[in-house]
Amino acid sequence: MSAFQENLEKLAELAIRVGLNLEKGQEVIATAPLEAVDFVRLLAEKAYGHGASLFTVIYGDNVMARKRLSLAPEEGLDKAPAWLYEGMAKAFREGAARLAVSGNDPKALEGLPPERIGRAQQAQSRAYKPALDAITEFVTNWTIVPYAHPGWAKAVFPGLPEEEAVARLWQAIFQATRAVAEDPVAAWEAHNRNLHQKVAYLNERRFHALHFRGPGTDLVVGLAEGHLWQGGATPTKKGLLCNPNLPTEEVFTAPHRERVEGVVRSTRPLALGGQLVEGLWARFEKGYAVEVGAEKGEEVLLKVLSTDGGARRLGEVALVAADNPIAQTGLVFFDTLFDENAASHIAFGQAYAENLEGRPSGEAFRSRGGNESLVHIDWMIGSEEVDVDGLYPDGTRVPLMRQGLWVI
Ligand code: ZN
Ligand code: ZN
Repeated sequence: MSAFQENLEKLAELAIRVGLNLEKGQEVIATAPLEAVDFVRLLAEKAYGHGASLFTVIYGDNVMARKRLSLAPEEGLDKAPAWLYEGMAKAFREGAARLAVSGNDPKALEGLPPERIGRAQQAQSRAYKPALDAITEFVTNWTIVPYAHPGWAKAVFPGLPEEEAVARLWQAIFQATRAVAEDPVAAWEAHNRNLHQKVAYLNERRFHALHFRGPGTDLVVGLAEGHLWQGGATPTKKGLLCNPNLPTEEVFTAPHRERVEGVVRSTRPLALGGQLVEGLWARFEKGYAVEVGAEKGEEVLLKVLSTDGGARRLGEVALVAADNPIAQTGLVFFDTLFDENAASHIAFGQAYAENLEGRPSGEAFRSRGGNESLVHIDWMIGSEEVDVDGLYPDGTRVPLMRQGLWVI
């Protein structure tokens, strides 16, 4: 077996055993881009090897999507296969596992009219909601596993011939997901233990705020009332532990939307709307980014931040050790799953209900400091030059990270 094939097998094995933590007799429902057919067959082989009863895959086809978006009548764009997503939701509630193969061509819909794309996407989001709710409520085990789509590879390595770009992206994926470890399943067990230990520590300490200090950064991020830290393997409602994201490196929680003060500077480029935003900085007063700028890509950034009133406030703060395998690839992946997990980060926009005790909504969510927005933009502010302290209400501080590494 070639080294490449060996790594691919290990990644597929990881997706089934660690990502899904598949139970004997369980059904699997997969979604994948058409180009990933060989990888999906390998995933099915591993799933059956671990006792799957039925593996069903639904393929996405960019060529078909382009045909529809350019040819279908205007009203037709309000349609989406609601029957399919209701069926998926039913299957999840009855115990089927959800396997999403990610990786797509970021330019797949290039040149098509944005209003037609927007209209179709809105209908799609509405129809998909029952299935999405089942996933976000963790009624079943689910995971997202990356696939090195040629279109994605070309975005990451624009100067290379396609074949070489794909090979390089696979190599980076294997590294980032720890598939290169001699025993990747054992490596993930240790990794999850480590993340859970940080989550337990931070939830026990109940800090009032975090203080980030580094070049261009002196930022105090107040934490929401009754905030909860999360990270690593997550239990389903039935108590089965799954890893929703391969890779994942973060522990994260909800900031208080009105208690963020100071200045902060990005430490890695941010891919936004197909462009790179570099040298991003912001100054916060009472939770609001009163000044925002960037050395590159400022226009696209400011446009996104004008979406609504919550877009200039924070909805997430996450801690990531600087010596993680994603950062070690030295790449910008143009994919949030990878890029946000490369460094400690904050996010402009929507906060997660699961980061607040009791998952409050509406007024209860807001009054505890939860931020609301249509956007959620993670940007990286951690590096080996950044220190992080936990602060208590009386100003006492506890060192959490020094030079980007955990000290607890
Ligand atoms: Zn995050
Ligand atoms: Zn985020």
